[in-house]
Amino acid sequence: MALRLDTSLQYIKGVGPKLGALFLRHGIRTVSDMLEFYPRAYEDQRAARNIASLKLGDIVSFKAQVVSVQAIKMGRSQRKMYDVIVRDQSGQIRCKFFRVPYKGYFERFTPYKEVRVVGKVIEYRGKIEFHHPDIRDIDPGEENQDALIPLYTEIEGLGTAKIHRFIKTCFENIPDENWPSEKLPAAIVQKYGLVSRRKALELLHLPNPENANEYLVYKTKAHRRIIFEEFFWLELYLAAKKTGFTKEKGVALLAGGGKLEELLRGLPFALTGAQKKAFAQIRADLEKDSPMHRMVQGDVGSGKTMVCFMAAVLVFENNMQSALMAPTEILAEQHYNNAEKLLSPLGLRSGLLTGKTRATERNKLLASLAAGEIDLLIGTHALIEDEVKFRSLALVVVDEQHRFGVEQRGQLKSKGHSPHFLVMTATPIPRTLAMTVYGDLDVSIIDEMPPGRSPIQTRVIFESKKPAALAFMLEQIEKGRQAYIVYPLVEESEKIDLKDAVSEFQNLEKQFPKTRIGLLHGKMKPLEKEQVMAQFREGDLQILVSTTVIEVGVDVPNANIMIIEHAERFGLSQLHQLRGRVGRGEHKSFCIMILGYAVSEEAKERTQFLEKTNDGFKIAEFDLEMRGPGEFMGTRQSGLPGFKMANLVRDLSVLQEAREAAFEVLRKDSQLRFPDHQLLREELTRTHGPAALAGIA
Ligand code: ADP
Ligand code: MG
Repeated sequence: MALRLDTSLQYIKGVGPKLGALFLRHGIRTVSDMLEFYPRAYEDQRAARNIASLKLGDIVSFKAQVVSVQAIKMGRSQRKMYDVIVRDQSGQIRCKFFRVPYKGYFERFTPYKEVRVVGKVIEYRGKIEFHHPDIRDIDPGEENQDALIPLYTEIEGLGTAKIHRFIKTCFENIPDENWPSEKLPAAIVQKYGLVSRRKALELLHLPNPENANEYLVYKTKAHRRIIFEEFFWLELYLAAKKTGFTKEKGVALLAGGGKLEELLRGLPFALTGAQKKAFAQIRADLEKDSPMHRMVQGDVGSGKTMVCFMAAVLVFENNMQSALMAPTEILAEQHYNNAEKLLSPLGLRSGLLTGKTRATERNKLLASLAAGEIDLLIGTHALIEDEVKFRSLALVVVDEQHRFGVEQRGQLKSKGHSPHFLVMTATPIPRTLAMTVYGDLDVSIIDEMPPGRSPIQTRVIFESKKPAALAFMLEQIEKGRQAYIVYPLVEESEKIDLKDAVSEFQNLEKQFPKTRIGLLHGKMKPLEKEQVMAQFREGDLQILVSTTVIEVGVDVPNANIMIIEHAERFGLSQLHQLRGRVGRGEHKSFCIMILGYAVSEEAKERTQFLEKTNDGFKIAEFDLEMRGPGEFMGTRQSGLPGFKMANLVRDLSVLQEAREAAFEVLRKDSQLRFPDHQLLREELTRTHGPAALAGIA
């Protein structure tokens, strides 16, 4: 039967309804889906060799015999690690699995069984081993196979060889005329030297052994073509969105009441060059009548809030309103206090709205807001509730944005008529993420710290050295400084054995009866939290034991030492943000990161990266590389686009090209009207709905 790309898979020879249903459960419905089920790796059989000759970093394939399979409990948790030991005449090696690939996977490997092992050689504690290699049965006809074999992720026990056979059948039965034409414009295919999509698919599934080395690192022209295209569609969508923004009608805000100058004169410091530059960019945006969509990135303590306040003053000079949304009550209150201090002398009226604002107060506040008697409303996500109505909202600022979903920023924006929009984030965003997840925003970077800050000195230690760390902390306290001790969780969890802040707080109180110690965690009542925070700020408390609620923004210059327990539980970017709570005053600052008992060398090495640098961007790039985009972004709001092949860490250069190509298209043809661009229109509508074109129609 002649196949088309949209033919349902069950009509392929050998598949049928039962396997068809199985594929469907994994999102593979049509021939096209099957062809986009890309090999996850390749096996170079010519590189087959023996165990003794394996070298770190090799991607290899070899025959071996199973020695043993063991399930090992990991620490005190329920989780298990699986250890498969294999050998040949030359030696033996362990294959580790931290999860079961599928039910029954390990049951297949009885001792003495002949298997083929395919994977990448890595090193752990001075020894080479494999993590999650492919271990599979030896096929009878195996010696005669091609020298370069694509490997597919097994689907519920349906092996890679069978999947490959189905894919071959697809290729054999699609006649030339059933291959659709290219969706990418010819000009782009040509400019970037891309192979055709059909050719790319063929090369991926029916690889040419001569280019084995390129296949093994995902760098063939076939990979490049597919990866380029995946990125291109995303970037085209972002480019359309961004182009749409520039056509939206907003309010142009012009400076000129002298208030901005008055604000700057009143400050006890001069702006840094980076703050000036960021504000100049913001100001230029505000002066246009299309709304600003900008992200300000700057390390903790770089002075983003100041820049935001300046923008709010500019709005105020134009008799319009601003909103500032922070992720926690503590932060919202801190911003509010700062606004009262810095902005009220200018006559700018601010208000504070959080979940705990009382009904009477709240009603009064909302009435003033609607009447235009509040110029800057500061608060938590309470700001997005329906009853919150502005008279003339012209600027929306979201602080520490990755805590909020894209939806929430939209909700706040919709309270004005195309207000200007600014997000501030202290997580330096690696370039790939800035171009994908935040690709529709302009970016300002504050890459300079206010003068007089001494860099934080960081040490990573094991639990056994904790008494020394506490002694060092006490020395600092005796000199009049204050300290944070941070724990990853509020309460002891049954599953993960972590010391919790509450019991540790009690221990410390017993241990150091003369020291004034406070406790702060997410489950406390807002009022209690506020009291504790105020006491710490005033210096009444010397040590603040806390969970990660202090993570963002909190500013106590006299605190110069932080101890972080179970540092292995945090990502590097998060640790970097945490330690940014210290190093805010004139005193030399310290951060001691304590690793739990059962921590791997790898986690230690990873954490030690923080001893070497205070550069948030370097840390973010490294963190992304180590943990991958999903973990980096956090589960709460990933906003990550799903790619079948592209990899945000590996494929940066292709991403750059695809972004350039997409933006170029819209620069030349801002409404996608050229005949050569009709397929782009269709594709955007197909993948993102008609709204994708709303801005540029
Ligand atoms: P961020 O939000 O970027 O982490 P903040 O805006 O909270 O940083 O600023 C941290 C501290 O630095 C605040 O106490 C602020 O008043 C102060 N600050 C801001 N800009 C400057 C500057 N140019 N010179 C000195 N101190 C500054
Ligand atoms: Mg801040």
